[in-house]
Amino acid sequence: MSKIPLSNDAAEIDHLRRAYTLMFVSYIAAAIIFVYGIRHIYDQQTLLAVILISSALAFLLNIVVFHLTGRIDRACLVQSVLVSMFVLVLVYQGGYHNTALYWVYPFPIIQFALLGARRGALLNLSLTLLLALFLKFPEWTIAKYRPEETSRFISSMLTVICVGWISEYFRARSHHKMTALQRDQQTLAYTDSLTGLLNRRYIDVDLPAQLLDNPDDYFPMTVVMLDIDHFKEVNDSFGHDAGDGVLRAVSQLLRTGTRAEDLVARYGGEEFIFFMPHTQLNDGLKRAESLRQQLAQHAFALGSVARHITASFGVATCHSPSNLKSTIQMADKNLYEAKRAGRNCVR
Ligand code: GH3
Ligand code: MG
Ligand code: MG
Repeated sequence: MSKIPLSNDAAEIDHLRRAYTLMFVSYIAAAIIFVYGIRHIYDQQTLLAVILISSALAFLLNIVVFHLTGRIDRACLVQSVLVSMFVLVLVYQGGYHNTALYWVYPFPIIQFALLGARRGALLNLSLTLLLALFLKFPEWTIAKYRPEETSRFISSMLTVICVGWISEYFRARSHHKMTALQRDQQTLAYTDSLTGLLNRRYIDVDLPAQLLDNPDDYFPMTVVMLDIDHFKEVNDSFGHDAGDGVLRAVSQLLRTGTRAEDLVARYGGEEFIFFMPHTQLNDGLKRAESLRQQLAQHAFALGSVARHITASFGVATCHSPSNLKSTIQMADKNLYEAKRAGRNCVR
């Protein structure tokens, strides 16, 4: 089966999920924490104000770096470390009238969204362990929590972590299944069943989108269209199944005779097309000529004899996504010229 550069909508949506979580934690949470920080300056709670304002600024710095670099994995990891540090320091200090524990509950869910099920669980459980130690040994902290809060806090945190883990684990599994399903369905929809090459639907539907999304990966791109000469005679002389065998053998020759980055498709009955990214017209003409010779020299096993089969080639070069259709038409026109010129040649 040909490698198919397919669009991956599920991955794009999942990227948005992480980016929005990151932005929510960075902007909204930072804004709330910042406002509380400013209020506590006026309450004379200097340490609490410093913790809140510096955490808010660290969250903002991380999101600015993310916007500049676009590195979401690193930004999520840094954000989750910052969130953990914020929770630890806040619980250590106690927050406003020892209410810090209320602020801990949103964080397991945030950590799962930023880090995924496995790393999120590891971090959440480590964080809960450290917080449990703070509660168990009040002499380590400035805060004064009530002794009966310890066991309630740990059980409710573990409940949140368990439910968060189940939800994240199965969300991720369902996402992977959907991605695989989408790939399988696209692969099936864009594959020619006889030859395993790309099909006409791929050229008409997906390729234009690929060219628009990633023009630097393709242009200038030379398009070669070829049509087997006198193929009807093969069918007439040796039968339709033998004709199918020839189509498969020609496909194999095209696969091995082109580069890994070239896209090879069956365009119609005995007509093929291939796209050569980053290839100017002259190079494209040379490659088409080389393929024409390879095909003409190949001995096809038909009946009890080895037969030679030729094809005619039309070549044209495309410089932008908007020219794809006209370039294919030009290659087709040149193929027609090659037929008129006596077949088994490149135009
Ligand atoms: P030319 O050199 O002008 O291209 O002549 P040709 O005989 O190759 O062209 P024509 O269009 O007259 O015939 C094409 C033949 O290809 C007719 C059709 O039966 C055959 N064909 C199309 N699709 C298939 C297929 O999937 N399997 C087989 N075995 N034959 C096919
Ligand atoms: Mg033909
Ligand atoms: Mg034809």
